[in-house]
Amino acid sequence: MTLSFDPEALELPFYHFIGGERIDGAGALEMRRPSDGRAYGACPVADEALVDRAVDAAKRALKTSGWADVRPRERVNALHRWAGLMEEEALTLARLEAVASTRPIAELVQGDIAATAEQIRFFAEFADKEGSDVVPTSTGTFGMTLTEPYGVIGAITPWNFPVSMAGWKLGPALAAGNAVVLKPSEMTPFSTLYMAELAVKAGIPAGLINIVLGDGPTTGSAITGHPDIAKVSFTGSTAAGGAIMQNIAHTGIKPMTLELGGKSPQLVFADADLELAASAVTRGILANAGQACVAGSRLIVAHEVADTLCEAIARHMADIRPGVTWDENTQYSPIISGRQLDRIDTIVRKAVEQGAECVTGGGPMDREGYFYEPTLLRGVDADSPAVIEEIFGPVLTIQTFGDEDEALALADHPTYGLAAGLFTRDLSRAIRVTKALQAGTVWVNRYGRSRDHILPTGGYKRSGIGKDLGREAYLANRKSKSVLIDL
Ligand code: NAD
Repeated sequence: MTLSFDPEALELPFYHFIGGERIDGAGALEMRRPSDGRAYGACPVADEALVDRAVDAAKRALKTSGWADVRPRERVNALHRWAGLMEEEALTLARLEAVASTRPIAELVQGDIAATAEQIRFFAEFADKEGSDVVPTSTGTFGMTLTEPYGVIGAITPWNFPVSMAGWKLGPALAAGNAVVLKPSEMTPFSTLYMAELAVKAGIPAGLINIVLGDGPTTGSAITGHPDIAKVSFTGSTAAGGAIMQNIAHTGIKPMTLELGGKSPQLVFADADLELAASAVTRGILANAGQACVAGSRLIVAHEVADTLCEAIARHMADIRPGVTWDENTQYSPIISGRQLDRIDTIVRKAVEQGAECVTGGGPMDREGYFYEPTLLRGVDADSPAVIEEIFGPVLTIQTFGDEDEALALADHPTYGLAAGLFTRDLSRAIRVTKALQAGTVWVNRYGRSRDHILPTGGYKRSGIGKDLGREAYLANRKSKSVLIDL
């Protein structure tokens, strides 16, 4: 069966989904397909009143379904059915995502969607296994810690991995007994809407998942500032994370999880398997054309192997297969928008003006849509925006080091600490460097996550607060209450 499809033939959902109903909204934000640059519709923007309606629907659904207090196995079973439906409907879901986003259809079907279904099952299983603790405190006293869901959680997701990000938020929140009001990115809302409709089909009570479309300043702020949203779970840029913290500070204190930006280093020591490193480093920067929070965008390599590694990476970079996201043969993604394409190009040009050598790439591709060449920049100033800023594009800078201390000093970013990779055959060095790196995830002799949702993910420094995935993400969706009983 071919996965390729005609984007013009696809019917797209331009509505909000509240209390299990589709709510029409007038299109307000122009949408363009990254693959060919064509305008194809407009995303509605939910105002405060509509967000209020979604929060009400969530509160009502929690009350009438008893979701927080049902036998936990009922939540487990419903979430398993939902994951199963996502697998059955993977092709529809993938098309709705591929048309608007930078994710190629084949990667979606075999990667993102399959993994998200697995993650939802993973979180479901906590519902009847992760319980409250009973502890003896002193003679004649009985103590316990109860855990309870928060109530209505406000979730906001970015455009770069829409299904995956929605799964990371919805899976643990629902398993833990909460309802959710979720705002997907205004650039890629369709697959998230379809996931919510499938949840209702799977028997998850209508109103437990509500999807409101819109931008950050209007819809996003209405969610984070809503008095009945008990907790905020956000994934996006560090700048938006800061704006959300401010809004929460002004509208009432509430807990939040923030998964933010990064500028992650990949360290290659002289004793590394260089062929393996070249291939992993290239994938680490070119996955989703560098539009990944954990993109390994700074190569930090030992002087003596820099030339060899550089050549090998340039060879791998030449091997990419760009194409429209609705073609099953596409392996290399477009950039999300014309604006972002220009931003990437400005940063690259500035680095070259400042004296950097462009080993390969260095400009937009000569084709329809927003495609940027895989780019390798050598001899970049340490304070150049190319080294400091999160570019969110297929641009790898190269810096060289003499010894381990210098490598670690270069790796340490002033603000970000999301992920890091290191390549070495020396086990002691691997452990020493792993411990020294200031990053929420460290990959050794590989780069990137693949279905290892057992491990939590999140940032050090200004890359975030709290964790997604892993047991931590489930626990973050419940609050604890200590109880002492005198016997
Ligand atoms: P963005 O911050 O522009 O937008 C993310 C979401 O937040 C969107 O839905 C947007 O509408 C909303 N938003 C923006 N301003 C807001 C505000 N003031 N209040 C409430 N909501 C607001 O990010 P993006 O361009 O969609 O995504 C790319 C960014 O996301 C990158 O910085 C990337 O590193 C980060 N990201 C992080 C992770 C992670 O796990 N740490 C994962 C994916 C993406």
